[in-house]
Amino acid sequence: MTAKIVPRRAILRTTGLLTAGLLLGAPAVPASATRRRTPDDAWAQLRQGNRRWVSGEVLHPHQDLARRAEVAEKQEPYATVVSCIDSRVPPEMVFDAGLGDLLTVRSAAQTIDPLVSGAIEYGPAELDVPLIVVLGHQRCGAVSAAAHALSEGERLPGSLQDIVKALRPAYKRAGGKVDKMIRLNTTGVVAELKANRLLARRIARGQLKIVGAYYSLDTGLVTRLV
Ligand SMILES: [Zn+2]
Repeated sequence: MTAKIVPRRAILRTTGLLTAGLLLGAPAVPASATRRRTPDDAWAQLRQGNRRWVSGEVLHPHQDLARRAEVAEKQEPYATVVSCIDSRVPPEMVFDAGLGDLLTVRSAAQTIDPLVSGAIEYGPAELDVPLIVVLGHQRCGAVSAAAHALSEGERLPGSLQDIVKALRPAYKRAGGKVDKMIRLNTTGVVAELKANRLLARRIARGQLKIVGAYYSLDTGLVTRLV
């Protein structure tokens, strides 16, 4: 029994999705799914999903047992979304995506440090992910709290002060205006990631794009900033 299963699994791992589908008797995988996605394809797919979310006509794709089985051994996500921890901005929901579609990296006001950058590098470097989206959002509580602390000269307790520190450049450039600060922080993180050596190499080869975007809590719409 085991002798039969093991080689078959090994074959599935090495021969890819199309062959796996044939071996399992599953419907043939459409050509679009076997072709490697470009950065622009990935962005178009996210935009389509977001339009569905805005209109309320969501498909909830890739959220069934078949998909769970399909990606159990191997993942091929098409984008990494770097977003805030805010409970109202879950990337899979706002882009109407599902299991195995997105790598999500979340931190307060999508601020980055070396550990977070490592998590962001993982997708492009190890899984050939063609797109990174840095997603700021309307009425970001972390940005508001940092703006308040900086204007009052207050020090926040514990590691919260590190978030304030990370947001100080955007605060200065925005003159303390919260919504402007949210946008400037988002584009600032994009610029930092573009300067990352590992990511810059992939951008230069056309294998990766990094997009900055803004999410409206009111409408659900994601607007590209950069
Ligand atoms: Zn936030």
